Amino acid sequence: MQGKRVVVLGGAGFVGSHLCERLLDDGAAAVTAVDNLITGNEENLRTLKGRPGFSYVKADIIEGIPVKEPFDYMFNMASPASPIDYANLPLETLRVGSIGTENGLKLAEANKAVFLMASTSEVYGDPLVHPQREDYWGNVNPIGPRSVYDEAKRYAEAVTAAYGRKGVQVRIVRIFNTYGPRMRLNDGRVVPAFVGQALKGEDFSVFGDGSQTRSFCYVKDLVDGLVRLALSDEPHPVNIGNPREMTIRQFAEAVRTAAGGGGSIIEKPLPKDDPKQRQPDITRARTLLGWEPKVPLEEGLRETIAWFREVAVRRSPS
Ligand code: NAD
Ligand code: UDP
Repeated sequence: MQGKRVVVLGGAGFVGSHLCERLLDDGAAAVTAVDNLITGNEENLRTLKGRPGFSYVKADIIEGIPVKEPFDYMFNMASPASPIDYANLPLETLRVGSIGTENGLKLAEANKAVFLMASTSEVYGDPLVHPQREDYWGNVNPIGPRSVYDEAKRYAEAVTAAYGRKGVQVRIVRIFNTYGPRMRLNDGRVVPAFVGQALKGEDFSVFGDGSQTRSFCYVKDLVDGLVRLALSDEPHPVNIGNPREMTIRQFAEAVRTAAGGGGSIIEKPLPKDDPKQRQPDITRARTLLGWEPKVPLEEGLRETIAWFREVAVRRSPS
């Protein structure tokens, strides 16, 4: 990314802010984060503000993207991403994935820039093929509570592929569950939920019997995959995620061990359409990008827990 000018839509979010940092570390000449803070937080930009080349524009990409300067790469990370967020923001989620994504594509086209779409493992829905390969078309309930997110991302992939066929340089990444510092404590996702519970000595809220599986990727590994994909010439979807799969019960135990605390496992109702299993097949990422995750869960959890401890202290002074 040396000398490149980059726009990051959703740059004040969890993943977006880590991506902005990595781009500047890699020598990008300009990194512009565009965000309306609907689920993001300006705090995430604290260490970025003041770094040469970084700028932040507060804007809703559904309304338009007020970036006038030319750029070489655009990453579209903008979307509510946790099940609680997109349940609370159903129309905003549908619109950012559809109208917002097309606004990004038009601007990328005008700039002859590479456009990278952050899609998701949710395009596979409750998958009937396991592990998930990119040629699996998925099993999504089109009218269920998760559909506002899943179908928005499926549409976003479709519109990105259509612009790709008319000559825009496009990349599509299907991101699997990712965790790390700067997740919101109350965003409802399992990592902040369990870490918060462990730090407060509360019981772990396992949804259902906890036999459903997920595979957790540390944010630093994900961001490395995003940069490699952007720099490649691969227009077709690529899974980025950590193939180490575990049940949610096993994950609660891993958090307990890493945090050195937490209560019992308490079963809570399983949300509708919660996928029963999820594990990426990363053969394409390995062969096309030379990418694979490097950070073991234990190490990533240590970093994440340390950050949550610090934030909990900073946000609730005694
Ligand atoms: P996040 O909520 O922390 O970040 C998303 C950012 O997009 C937020 O800062 C939000 O304010 C911004 N945004 C939303 N709508 C916008 C709009 N209309 N205009 C401008 N900004 C807008 O979530 P995240 O976990 O960092 O996810 C980032 C991206 O990666 C999302 O597109 C998500 O779908 C995708 N993804 C994430 C994961 C994961 O595990 N974190 C997994 C799969 C896909
Ligand atoms: N989950 C849980 N307890 C929580 C939050 C989530 O057991 O407090 C489960 C959830 O039902 C799902 C898994 O953990 O099976 C991952 O949930 P998350 O919301 O983090 O991401 P998803 O993969 O469902 O988008």
